[in-house]
Amino acid sequence: MIVRVLGSAAGGGVPQWNCACRNCHAARVGRAPRRTQSSLAVSADGARWLLLNCSPDIAAQIEAFPPLHPRPPRSTPIAGMLFTDANVDHIGGLAVLRQRGGHGGFLIRSSATVREIATAQPAFAPFAAPPHRWLDAAVGECVRSTGGDDLAGSALAIRTIAVPGTTPGYAGRLPASGAVVAYEIADRSTRKPLLFAPVFSAIDDALRAAIERSSVAFLDGSFYSDDELTDAQLLDKRARALGHQPVGGSDGTLAQLQGTQTRIIFTHLNNSNPMLDSDSEGYAAVREFGAELAYDGMELTL
Ligand SMILES: [Zn+2]
Ligand SMILES: [Zn+2]
Repeated sequence: MIVRVLGSAAGGGVPQWNCACRNCHAARVGRAPRRTQSSLAVSADGARWLLLNCSPDIAAQIEAFPPLHPRPPRSTPIAGMLFTDANVDHIGGLAVLRQRGGHGGFLIRSSATVREIATAQPAFAPFAAPPHRWLDAAVGECVRSTGGDDLAGSALAIRTIAVPGTTPGYAGRLPASGAVVAYEIADRSTRKPLLFAPVFSAIDDALRAAIERSSVAFLDGSFYSDDELTDAQLLDKRARALGHQPVGGSDGTLAQLQGTQTRIIFTHLNNSNPMLDSDSEGYAAVREFGAELAYDGMELTL
């Protein structure tokens, strides 16, 4: 299975258009890498691709990765999409992919909660109607794509895991069943699956078990500390109130995953996150743990 990081930032990207924080400034002047909003592309055969979330940066992400370029005259190797939640930085790319041409439509999977919230928005509603199909991913269910018009056109097995989280701000930021899920993905040649969990507000038993049985886990790296947004006077909100468990601190993700054998890659990195500065304590803690930061263009073969 081929895994490509299309984008590695949380909503807004790095730099974010209205932000002059240290990290955004560093990216703006070329001292740190630019990051588009988070998404992965995965493929079993390199020919048909599945997007894990579809950010508003999708057009530039497609152009930056030739395997996602269109086939003549107008068709796409993107067969389907999985959504972890209904936040605009995770589904907003749909509004960019309106033109269909000769393309038969996308197969989309999300929780029923995410489908209901997303398709109540006029920009996304057309994706629940033909030629598209928007199917519910039931928690615990394992879907094996079988070729043809299925999710990725070749043998990917996809399992949905409910994780603690809330609905997006535009839907009230309420704790709701299925508001946020993670996906475990494997193909015939992968011994242990890939885990994609870019958003969670806590690590519960189910998420911990999924991390432990995966070979590589892309995890929520939005914030290093609960109060970094307020400390830097960027936003009067705490990380946990925004539905994200911080990476650092005595009760953060690193502390909770001490001793894991799984390769941990943090993604969905918010521009406020001190980990983005390689001279920071946060970055040192990530390296000391043995974890990594995703970056745009990162590729893995599982
Ligand atoms: Zn997000
Ligand atoms: Zn910033």
